[in-house]
Amino acid sequence: MSIRGLVITKDDLLYDETRSVYNGMIDRHPAVIVKCRDVADVITAVNFARLHNLLTAVRGGGHNGGGLGVCDDGMVIDLSMMKGIRMDSTSDTIRVEGGCTLGDIDHATQVFGKAVPTGILSTTGIGGLTLGGGLGHLSRKYGLTIDSLLEADVVLADGHLITASEKENSDLFWAIRGGGGNFGIVTSFLFTLHDAGTVYGGPMLWPIEDAEEIMRQYREFILNASNDHYCYFALLTVPPVAMFPAELHLKKMCGLLWCNVGDAEKSTKAAQRFRDLKKPAVDFCGPIPFNALQGMFDALYPKGLQWYWKADFVKDLTDEAIKLNVEYGHQLPTPHSTMHLYPINGACHDKQNNETAFSYRDANWAQVIVGVDPDPANKEKISSWAKAYWEALHPFSLGGAYINFMMEEGEARVEASYRDNYRQLARIKRKYDPDNFFKVNQNIKPVTVAEKELEH
Ligand SMILES: Cc1cc2nc3c(=O)[nH]c(=O)nc-3n(C[C@H](O)[C@H](O)[C@H](O)COP(=O)(O)OP(=O)(O)OC[C@H]3O[C@@H](n4cnc5c(N)ncnc54)[C@H](O)[C@@H]3O)c2cc1C
Repeated sequence: MSIRGLVITKDDLLYDETRSVYNGMIDRHPAVIVKCRDVADVITAVNFARLHNLLTAVRGGGHNGGGLGVCDDGMVIDLSMMKGIRMDSTSDTIRVEGGCTLGDIDHATQVFGKAVPTGILSTTGIGGLTLGGGLGHLSRKYGLTIDSLLEADVVLADGHLITASEKENSDLFWAIRGGGGNFGIVTSFLFTLHDAGTVYGGPMLWPIEDAEEIMRQYREFILNASNDHYCYFALLTVPPVAMFPAELHLKKMCGLLWCNVGDAEKSTKAAQRFRDLKKPAVDFCGPIPFNALQGMFDALYPKGLQWYWKADFVKDLTDEAIKLNVEYGHQLPTPHSTMHLYPINGACHDKQNNETAFSYRDANWAQVIVGVDPDPANKEKISSWAKAYWEALHPFSLGGAYINFMMEEGEARVEASYRDNYRQLARIKRKYDPDNFFKVNQNIKPVTVAEKELEH
């Protein structure tokens, strides 16, 4: 293989460090890891893997809960050295290479008071996040990350590089906006930029005993709020770190994490409504540079912790569901474990379910339940809490989950996550990756020839 980047095999000193991903629960041993330097490296690696019939995983930021950025025995195509970024302030766009993290992009944009709407932790990769949909602090204002995507360069399973946009290969462009890494390797993304210099954001926390009331008020607020307002609801334990008052350390709490954009007076008023309802035990909400808010919790969640993920989309947060959430919040198994309800109404609802592959535009929240702990001995404890919590709440959900918040949960779960869009995704998969070369992902199986004929 002729590669400008690095080719790392089992004998290499860097092997263990390079094969590891963000979730410490994942322990896979690929035969070879290709750290690509450029598009030519990506094409060479794809051609080599295809020729030698190697199972191939693609890695952007390595954050995926199910560890889909690494595989056993085959090849990992790692994009983390491809971090090129080019801002274009004339057209208000930014082109970023597939190995960028959210923090790389925020760093480049903040100085101009701009942002790409992405996720809430700066160490996540733009690749996996975007291809699954992408939700975060700016979702209510500007939509999902895919709603700001203008174009992507994609290396296909046959080694060809093509561009996907509304004008070129528009079926592929539809599919990569939510369909994950099923269709090829995105070497660069072109995004529209939005205004997000200083925002009015940060956490407000209350004792868990207040969670039911805060959650009900939160429901009413966020379902009716203007798109300038954003806050997600969390059940959590106060970390024992200096930024929080010592008497609150390790106390179970509920919280709102704000990110209001636009008019400062209206932002203050929205947050004040909750201050007046019940004085928060912690109130760090105020004017803050957007990228500081994005990176606020990075240090609390370093690489290597054990993570067990369960998720669902939610439309109606009933009183009964609120009670159950609070019940499981009281049972948070470890200090890092948490539940987040991310609002995806507002601008996310501007598109219909079938306008992109992301098929839950009718949901109001993406809920995630994560059991997290540094100690592998607690794997069972965190997993069983997350599973029991999810099983109790699943009947109140829309039935499928955000693919970026899932472990490997089987075909039926993937289908449920794409609902009516699954068939179309399977047809597009057949066109661009008929042999299912890209299968280390929330896998969409290509429609077979027989199935296709039956359709006609
Ligand atoms: C702490 C934490 C916080 C998170 N917060 C958010 C959040 O706020 N909002 C949100 O939407 N999600 C969030 N996520 C979920 C995140 O979107 C997914 O974990 C996503 O898969 C991460 O992308 P990655 O590139 O880092 O992952 P990787 O593990 O590198 O890859 C994940 C999947 O995407 C594919 N992939 C990655 N890059 C490419 C590419 N360039 N071309 C083709 N396929 C590719 C991989 O093959 C793999 O299947 C969070 C995850 C963590 C761990």
